[in-house]
Amino acid sequence: MKNTFPVIVVGAGHAGIEAAAAVARSGSRCLLLTQNIDTIGQMSCNPAIGGIGKGHLVKEIDALGGIMGRAIDRAGIQFRVLNARKGPAVRATRAQADRSLYKLAVRELLEELPLLQMFQGSVGDLLIEDGRVAGVRLENGQEFRAPAVVLTTGTFLAGRIHIGDQSYPAGRAGDAPANALAERLRALEFPVARLKTGTPPRIDGRSIDYSVLEIQPGDDPAPPFSFLTERIEVEQRPCHITYTNAETHRIIADNLQHSAMYGGHIQSKGPRYCPSIEDKIVRFADKASHQIFLEPEGLRTQEVYPNGISTSLPFAVQEALVRSMRGLENAVLLRPGYAIEYDYLDPRALTPELQSQLLPGLFCAGQINGTTGYEEAAAQGLLAGINAARWMRGEKGWCPARHEAYLGVMVDDLVTRGLDEPYRMFTSRAEYRLRLREDNADQRLTPVGRELGLVDEERWQRFVAKQEALRGERQRLESIRIGEDSPAAQHLALRLPQPLRRDHNLWELLRRPELGYAELLADCGISDPLPVSLAAVLEIDCKYAGYVQRQEEEVERNQRWESMEIPADLDFGVISGLSTEVRQRLQRQQPRSVGEASRIPGVTPAAVSLLLIHVKRHH
Ligand code: FAD
Repeated sequence: MKNTFPVIVVGAGHAGIEAAAAVARSGSRCLLLTQNIDTIGQMSCNPAIGGIGKGHLVKEIDALGGIMGRAIDRAGIQFRVLNARKGPAVRATRAQADRSLYKLAVRELLEELPLLQMFQGSVGDLLIEDGRVAGVRLENGQEFRAPAVVLTTGTFLAGRIHIGDQSYPAGRAGDAPANALAERLRALEFPVARLKTGTPPRIDGRSIDYSVLEIQPGDDPAPPFSFLTERIEVEQRPCHITYTNAETHRIIADNLQHSAMYGGHIQSKGPRYCPSIEDKIVRFADKASHQIFLEPEGLRTQEVYPNGISTSLPFAVQEALVRSMRGLENAVLLRPGYAIEYDYLDPRALTPELQSQLLPGLFCAGQINGTTGYEEAAAQGLLAGINAARWMRGEKGWCPARHEAYLGVMVDDLVTRGLDEPYRMFTSRAEYRLRLREDNADQRLTPVGRELGLVDEERWQRFVAKQEALRGERQRLESIRIGEDSPAAQHLALRLPQPLRRDHNLWELLRRPELGYAELLADCGISDPLPVSLAAVLEIDCKYAGYVQRQEEEVERNQRWESMEIPADLDFGVISGLSTEVRQRLQRQQPRSVGEASRIPGVTPAAVSLLLIHVKRHH
C-alpha cells in the first residue's frame, strides 16, 4: 500500500465520511483512516437524522453532492415533516433510521468513489515538519504522509464513560478512546477543554406493551431528504409514545446524588437542548410529565430507543425509572444509558475554512469542534474536506456566508463566538432564515457545488431540469389571465373573502394565502400541473416573494460590513478609543472582516464604528 496521499481524514463518523467523500469527489485521492471499518457511519446515539435546523443541514449537504441525504433515504423507516403547518422557513424533515441499513448505505456510497481508500487503524500522533502537518502515525507505528489532514475524532479524544459512580475510558460504548492523540494535542498546546453528552438505555421491544401506547405513524408519502430521491422504497414503521409520571420523577429525584452528573463525577457541560432526564426533572421541576418517543432501531431487530431519557444514573435506577412508565412496566433493558466526557478543541482557533490557525494543513470537523449531532458533524466534515483538498491543490478556500447556508451560520458562530456548551443547530440561529429553507437548498448551493467540482452530471442535469420546470410553470401562470366575470372567477370566489374586482393572472392569484396551487389550477380548468414536490417549491417562491425580497435588501445592507476586509497585519492596538477588553478579543481572534468582528461577543457597536473608520482609512 502506498503511504502518501494528498489528504488524510482521521475518523469515519458523520464528519469523516463527508470529508473523505468531498475530497474524492473534488478529484483528489483521499485516505480515510478509522479505528474500525465496521463502525463507519455508526450512529452513536439516536437512530434518527434531521429535525428542525438539522434537516436544513442535511439538505445542504445533499445539494453539495454529499452522502447523508442519500444514505438516510436508503435506510429511513419513518419520515416526517416537522412544523408542517408552520411557515416554510421552519419546516424540517426528520427520519428514523434502521441503524444497520444506514451503515450499509454509507459504506456503499463511499465504495462508489474510486479516489477514496479506507484503512483500519488508530491514529496516535501527528507528523509535523517545518511547522506544518505532514501526516499521521498510527498507534502501532505505521506512518501515512499527507500535506493536509482532517481530524474528525468525535467523542473519542480522552473519552470517559460514566454510569452512576462508575467510570471508565471509552470513545463511546464498545469502542476504545483516542488517548494517545488526545495527549499529543494537549502537548502541542491546542486549546483543549471538555464537554459531555449522554444516551438513554435501550429496551427489548418484545417486553413493551404496545397495545396501551399512542402510535405515531410517519407521513404518507414519505418525504425524502435527497434531491435525487424520487420515492422512499424502504418498509416504514411507526414510533410509539409514552410519558414520564410522578413516580418516574420521584425515582429520579430520590437518586439524584447517584447520578454521575449530580453526584459530582462530571463537571463539564452537556447539551442544553438535549438534556438528560435528571436535568429535565431538576430544571423543569413544575412539569408533571415528559413525552418519551419509543423509536425502533431497525426493521430486523426488536431493539427500541427511548428518546428523552438520556441518563447517567446507576443501572438499577435506570431500570426502575423505565418500568415506571405506561407500557414499559415489564421492560427488559438491552444496554445501559451513560454519559460521556471528552476533549474538544476551541473552534475559535480555526479559520472559516476549518483549518487550524496553529498548525497549517490541519483541519478539524465535527464533535471535536464542540458541536453535537450527526448533521452538524457531517456539514462541517463536508466543508473541511472541500477546503483540505483545495488548500493542498493551492486553490482558494470556500465557506458559505450566513445568508447563503445554515452551514455558513454554524461555522461563523463556531469560529467567531466559540462555545461553552455543545453547539447544535436551530432555525433561530439564522437571521436570514426565510432564504435558508430546506426546499431551496439546491437553488442556493448546487451551482456553487458544481463549480467546486462536487456535483456530478446526474445531479446537475436534474437540477437544471427542475429549474427549467419551475421557470416554465411560472411563465405559464403569468400568461393565463382570469377575467373578473369568467366562470373560473366564480369558482374562485367561493375560496376568497371577496370576489375578484379585476382581471388577474394566475401567478398573482397564487400569492393569495387562500389559494393553493392544485386548487387554483383545478378551479381554472388548467391541466398538466407540476408534480407535488415541485409545486410546493413554486408555491413558496410565489407566496413569500415579498418577504424574501425584504430579506435580500437586508442582506445587501449588511454585506457592506462583510465585504469590508480587515488587513491581516492590522495592529488593533493602534486604533484609539477601543477598550483593552475589545482590543484583546480582536487581537486573539483576528477577524477577517468588519462583519465578523461585529459578531465577536463583547465587541460593542461603538467599537465596530471605530474599527470601521480605521479600516476605511486603510482601504
Ligand atoms: P463520531 O461519530 O464520534 O465519529 C468519530 C470517528 O472517529 C469514529 O469512527 C471513531 O472510530 C474515529 N476515531 C476516533 N479517534 C480516532 C483515532 N485516533 N484514529 C482513528 N479513528 C478514530 N448528538 C446529538 O445530537 N444528540 C444527542 O443526544 C447525542 N447524544 C450522544 C450520546 C453519546 C453517548 C454519544 C457518544 C454521542 C452523542 N451524540 C449526540 C453525538 C453524536 O453522536 C455526534 O455528534 C456525532 O456522531 C459526531 O460525529 P463525528 O463524526 O464528529 O464523530
